[in-house]
Amino acid sequence: VLVFEALSGRLSGVFDGLAKRGALSEADVMEAMREVRLAMLDADVALPVVKDFVNKVRERAVGQEVLDSISPGQAVAKIVNDALIDALGGAGAVPLNLSAVPPVPVLMVGLQGSGKTTTSGKLALRLRERDRKKVLLASLDTQRPAAQLQLAQLATQAGVVSLPIVAGQTPVEIARRAMETGRREGYDVVILDTAGRLSIDEALMDEVRQIRDVVNPAETLLVVDAMTGQDAVNTAKSFNEAVGVSGVVMTRMDGDARGGAALSMKAITGAPIKLTGSGEKLDALEEFHPERVAGRILG
Ligand code: GDP
Repeated sequence: VLVFEALSGRLSGVFDGLAKRGALSEADVMEAMREVRLAMLDADVALPVVKDFVNKVRERAVGQEVLDSISPGQAVAKIVNDALIDALGGAGAVPLNLSAVPPVPVLMVGLQGSGKTTTSGKLALRLRERDRKKVLLASLDTQRPAAQLQLAQLATQAGVVSLPIVAGQTPVEIARRAMETGRREGYDVVILDTAGRLSIDEALMDEVRQIRDVVNPAETLLVVDAMTGQDAVNTAKSFNEAVGVSGVVMTRMDGDARGGAALSMKAITGAPIKLTGSGEKLDALEEFHPERVAGRILG
């Protein structure tokens, strides 16, 4: 994953240095942790997350057990690895929870341009192909004239059905109709793509809350753009407080962002990253495995 390249390079440098020394003193560990701290800040990890991370690692790493171990450099790297996994959300991917009675509603929320509509199409393709689900896609975006058509095109590409467009309906009315259609026609999952806004505003949150109360989603997935760095984390915090978010999808992991948002997300928002997007194509959607990502960061 491109977004972690710079951080990965910096951390590898630190731990290669430690490994070469053989014996380690407390001062060596402290010096290494100063470098880790700078590398994380440069990678755009939120300051409170960096502080907490460095404190935890330092506490564990300066113990005699570690310093006296056969390869202390490796022991410290292992501690950092475990702390990275924690920051990324804990071991193991957090799966989508689609165990409700069908049709299972999945609500897609996020700011305009975050990749919400594309991700809705990606998710539809994934559920159809890998999980053999019968998926209905519905656009509740009555703000942007082309939005409903865009989703209909993505549905065709993903090989799933999209809810027919009825002019003049409100988002809540479309949501009701989508769920009725889902029940009547035996769909397993109904993906509801809500309207975005350029920034967080009360009207947006109100609309999402109303839709949420009508469909009672099994998953409310917030789509954020990794390229926006700490703004993505702040957006997630606001959405989670206002409407409740069950999982985050971080898009543009193929871009040249610095990756810090992924490391800050869980601690700042409480919501786990469940999926990531790494391209414009419909198959560019991956599960988020913290232990694999940590492994890649540490090279
Ligand atoms: P929405 O306004 O949130 O619905 O955003 P769209 O789904 O329309 O996406 C905006 C642009 O971002 C489109 O050109 C997408 O192809 C592109 N996009 C979405 N996800 C990704 C991704 O993971 N990587 C890249 N490189 N582009 C993406």
